[in-house]
Amino acid sequence: MDESEAIVELLEDLLGDHGLHYPNRGQISFNCPVCDDERNKHNLEVNYFSNVFKCWSCGDNEGTHGSLGKLFDKYGNKKLKKLYNILKPETIQVKEKRVPKLKLPEGYKKFSEVNKIYPVRKQAINYLYNRGISDDVIEKYQIGFCDVGDHNGRIIIPSYNKKGELNYYISRSWDPNSRYKYKNPQTEKDKIVFWENMIDWDKDIYLVEGAFDGIFLPNSIPMLGKHMSELLFETIYNNAKGDIIICLDADAWDNATKLYHELNGGSMYGRIKIIKLPDDKDTADLRGQVDEYYYKMRG
Ligand SMILES: [Zn+2]
Repeated sequence: MDESEAIVELLEDLLGDHGLHYPNRGQISFNCPVCDDERNKHNLEVNYFSNVFKCWSCGDNEGTHGSLGKLFDKYGNKKLKKLYNILKPETIQVKEKRVPKLKLPEGYKKFSEVNKIYPVRKQAINYLYNRGISDDVIEKYQIGFCDVGDHNGRIIIPSYNKKGELNYYISRSWDPNSRYKYKNPQTEKDKIVFWENMIDWDKDIYLVEGAFDGIFLPNSIPMLGKHMSELLFETIYNNAKGDIIICLDADAWDNATKLYHELNGGSMYGRIKIIKLPDDKDTADLRGQVDEYYYKMRG
């Protein structure tokens, strides 16, 4: 029996039978010891990878959230607490690493700042126009380009966090013969939320793979790949008030349905929608016209 199985068993001793369980992300739900009252709602979510729990129903009012240690302290007996202390993973003391602040690449320019007859600007903007990206979109997302330095010949799509600090950028070559289509920063993608400063948490949110998909849909979050980071999952769970619409490329249908089931629980239950795009078209190809591809999930 591995460590995860042991912790699940211990949690069952504490809280009774579990509800949904996603072993690959350490996510599992139980009936809340405070508010369930034998309704079998499984509102208490535990993540035994990050050692936290929260009741989506009474967490905010009753304080039923926090570290797993607290859960065992509050609701466990002596024996269970002792077992948990033996089993719990070492608390890792992560020292704050001094990471230099991310900066836009050398030579980044907004299109609005450069004379329209400048040939490099023309190349860059024609690339965007050919992809169906309008001047309004360019302005809204502060899309720019580089004509010197390491990122010469690339379109830049910046991303800012909620404090307005640059947290990532996409750098896409407009030259079809370029060896590397993308040259993105070293920043770990799973430590940031792309376009965080632009998200309206009260409105419906589209989840897409890349920034070039996201610019065609209102209020979208590019995951920068086919997987959702723990950080994005938590951020959405804690903030999103509207629906979440999953809109990944057709080749990521398995990822998309998995994501659907992961998100469709707790306080998010019933608010997840999914779009199944045709095999040969992604969101960018369709210029965001995805409405006809909503897919009805069963169960
Ligand atoms: Zn509760």
